[in-house]
Amino acid sequence: MKRYSLFALARDALFGAAPTPAWRDAAPRSSYDAIVVGGGGHGLATAYYLAREHGLRDVAVLEKSHVGSGNAGRNTTIIRSNYLLPENIDFYDFSMKLWERMERDLNFNTMVSQRGVLELFHSDGQRDAFVRRGNAMRMRGVDAELLDVAATRRLAPYVDFDNARFPVLGAMLHRRGGTARHDAVVWGHARAADALGVDIVQNCEVTGIRVERGRAAGVETTRGFVRAKRIGLAVAGHSSRLAAMAGVRLPVESHVLQAFVTEGLKPLVHHVVMFGAGHFYVSQSDKGGLVFGGGIDGYNSYARRGNLPVVEDVCEAGVAMMPALSRLRVLRHWGGAQDMTMDGSPIIDFSPVEGLFLNCGWGYTGFKATPASGFCFAHLMARGEPHPLAAPFRLDRFAAGRVLDEEGRGARANLQ
Ligand SMILES: Cc1cc2nc3c(=O)[nH]c(=O)nc-3n(C[C@H](O)[C@H](O)[C@H](O)COP(=O)(O)OP(=O)(O)OC[C@H]3O[C@@H](n4cnc5c(N)ncnc54)[C@H](O)[C@@H]3O)c2cc1C
Repeated sequence: MKRYSLFALARDALFGAAPTPAWRDAAPRSSYDAIVVGGGGHGLATAYYLAREHGLRDVAVLEKSHVGSGNAGRNTTIIRSNYLLPENIDFYDFSMKLWERMERDLNFNTMVSQRGVLELFHSDGQRDAFVRRGNAMRMRGVDAELLDVAATRRLAPYVDFDNARFPVLGAMLHRRGGTARHDAVVWGHARAADALGVDIVQNCEVTGIRVERGRAAGVETTRGFVRAKRIGLAVAGHSSRLAAMAGVRLPVESHVLQAFVTEGLKPLVHHVVMFGAGHFYVSQSDKGGLVFGGGIDGYNSYARRGNLPVVEDVCEAGVAMMPALSRLRVLRHWGGAQDMTMDGSPIIDFSPVEGLFLNCGWGYTGFKATPASGFCFAHLMARGEPHPLAAPFRLDRFAAGRVLDEEGRGARANLQ
């Protein structure tokens, strides 16, 4: 694999170099030690860690379209570890630590930008909840700062602080949070996994899972049957469909979430900013566009397009927080189908079918989990035991009542 560096760039600029593909366009072989279904961030990170951490090189990632065509390429790229529950704080902060060294690990510019996540609060009760969450984070070594109005105003002067309906009383700042370049995260993992011998097979849809004597034996695909000793599902919004192919019913619903990008501006929004009085979050991409999103569309769907009433809802919340937004043109908006569990936390676990492993339930918060999810899923698939950080994310927690309900909104995915 070609090593990217300033020196290599200068050498190629001076002497010229034939373009080399970042990874091989592999055709599926008839059998593998391990197959990961889904060439999104989670599937590719899993394959990378299977090879890097566990020495498994006979691995394939099977992707029905091109890598990154799912949620990995559709999200608003926010990364953070500002959770309340200890299980989530520890897992997502492990992920933050992997983000912090990702570019060196992968030798790829994933544009990790720790610009800080600023969450606005608008009432005394909301401030108290933020204080509680901030203290929970600090007790586990994660940064959190409570800002008063003046300090918040200095960081985000474009916010409407004195709006009569939603006056801003302050914010919680999580400095290590920020954004990363989603496509680069996909490409970087694909390239690094390929260099370790992983086959990345695109345009290869899994259409069935063959179960022999109670054990997953391989997958039927649009490019033939592929046998494998271990099969990991990392298909995000399609998890329930894939699991059903092996007769497994998951406690997961698929929902649409939309995202938006405006025309480019000079630097204005220097953090990720989250509105506390409506579902709205915004950051500014390096190209200048404001990237923003809101809540889910609220009905079950595998489609990757959303509804206009939600567009209106998100834009309304955006303009309430940041009136200048109303002057901008939205250039593009799109949707992604994401898999939601009833408690809003993911599942990284064995399935009831031997040899079939589950990585799902990431909903609209899975981008930030990409490296930790891959790391822990690879551990599960290679060693046959859950990684300690993923041990709370077992499938049986719903039956056993050990749910991880971070939002405290009850047992309905569309309320998470
Ligand atoms: C609009 C939007 C905004 C979001 N914003 C954020 C955010 O700011 N921060 C955050 O942390 N998270 C965010 N998320 C959530 C995050 O994007 C997902 O949780 C995460 O990307 C899911 O994991 P993945 O990357 O592996 O999924 P995907 O990229 O969806 O990967 C799954 C892959 O499986 C493939 N596949 C499906 N079926 C088959 C099959 N039968 N055979 C072969 N391949 C198959 C799909 O084509 C897809 O490429 C957002 C999601 C959306 C939709």
